[in-house]
Amino acid sequence: MTAEDLLTTIDDHGVRLLRFLWCGNDGTVRAKASGRHGLAGRLSAGIGLTVAMGAMNSLDQLQPVPGMGPVGEVRLAPDLDTFRLLPYAPHVGALLTDQLQLDGAPAAACPRSFLKRMEARLAERRLALQAAFENEFSLATRVDGAYVPLDSGLCFSTISMTACQDYIAELAAALEAQQIPLEQYYAELGHGQQEISTAHVPALQAADEQLLVRETIRAVASRRGLVASLAPKPWPNNAGNGCHIHFSLWEQGRNRFYDGSQPDGLSETARAFIAGVLAHLPGLCALTAPSYNSYHRIVPQSWAGAFVCWGHDNREAPVRAASPFRGAEEGSTNAELKASDASCNPYVAVGALIAAGLDGIERALEAPDPVELDPATLSADERAARGIAEMPDTQAQALDALEADGLLLEALGPELARSYLAVRRSEWETYSAGDMGFEQQGHFEKY
Ligand code: GLU
Ligand code: MG
Repeated sequence: MTAEDLLTTIDDHGVRLLRFLWCGNDGTVRAKASGRHGLAGRLSAGIGLTVAMGAMNSLDQLQPVPGMGPVGEVRLAPDLDTFRLLPYAPHVGALLTDQLQLDGAPAAACPRSFLKRMEARLAERRLALQAAFENEFSLATRVDGAYVPLDSGLCFSTISMTACQDYIAELAAALEAQQIPLEQYYAELGHGQQEISTAHVPALQAADEQLLVRETIRAVASRRGLVASLAPKPWPNNAGNGCHIHFSLWEQGRNRFYDGSQPDGLSETARAFIAGVLAHLPGLCALTAPSYNSYHRIVPQSWAGAFVCWGHDNREAPVRAASPFRGAEEGSTNAELKASDASCNPYVAVGALIAAGLDGIERALEAPDPVELDPATLSADERAARGIAEMPDTQAQALDALEADGLLLEALGPELARSYLAVRRSEWETYSAGDMGFEQQGHFEKY
């Protein structure tokens, strides 16, 4: 879309404010908005943003990171093709942005540019990653300052579905209005827990849409006096919210994860990519399940993947090879990363997933034997004999694993890696010194 077309659309719809959105190292979505006056200039040159935001954690505590202090600016440069009218905010639109240096080059720590770099590395092999985010979230009301789940229904319960049908209808309409195809909805296991999945699309678009989806889930709820939370573990004794990432590799319209001659339909490329993801998973999950709260979700027998393994339709494996659908085998062959939640920066998460998978392809790694049972039912010795390691127990352990993963650090680049680690380490320092109430308050309404 050209700037001229965009301005015409904006005027046709009476848009008065245009949000320039970005997602930080803390995984929160933030924005600066432009009024109509001066908008043409901001569409081409961007909005100014302090470089310090790269070092801001999810408690708005600025971390000491070289080059990310009070001096210096980047530009939030919009990608005009991402424009959406926001159905939940009258006369408001949104755009996703890259962070550019003043000379127009991508800022070294720009997460969206990181994902583009990883896509370019795939493109060198004529490959492109398609991804879909599957968001689980909790609907709650506030009673005397406490969050109370909207219902206490059963998994996939139609009673739970009915309890929030007006909200879901508005959510579905809002996604449709933003041209984000909703695939499925159901009430999930947890009290108040819902799940929606959206269509698989090219990686960058998937990450852009993930921010729009998160915004929409929360905003539609807030207009109805509800709180929607995508926090990984919204209540200590209620099911966790995953944000599973489905992925497959494509080359000129063909799914390179698919090989019809294999009994499970998975190609050698798919197996090598999965092997790369598994080889890097302990560090990768610091980027895909990145918050303090994330590690209260990734525990055994919670269907979040607490042991490093993969399996066919194994919902206790952090990487699940999803069974394809009869008659649509090629199109539906994909793998699912379950060790992922919506407190991640989706650009960082998908970019790192590509880096890990590509490493598997480049080194022609062999996938370990698939695990076709719940690994928690094996003894520790049996798991050790099968080479099944435990996932990190805490955010701090995941960050240690990331810091020890040279390939992921190199892919991120020193600026993004350094600022990311500083931000997430500081969250660990703060939350590990607090109690469960502080943890809940710190995550429930930020994700
Ligand atoms: N709620 C689970 C999680 O935390 C996932 C349940 C499922 O398999 O959909 O990831
Ligand atoms: Mg689910």
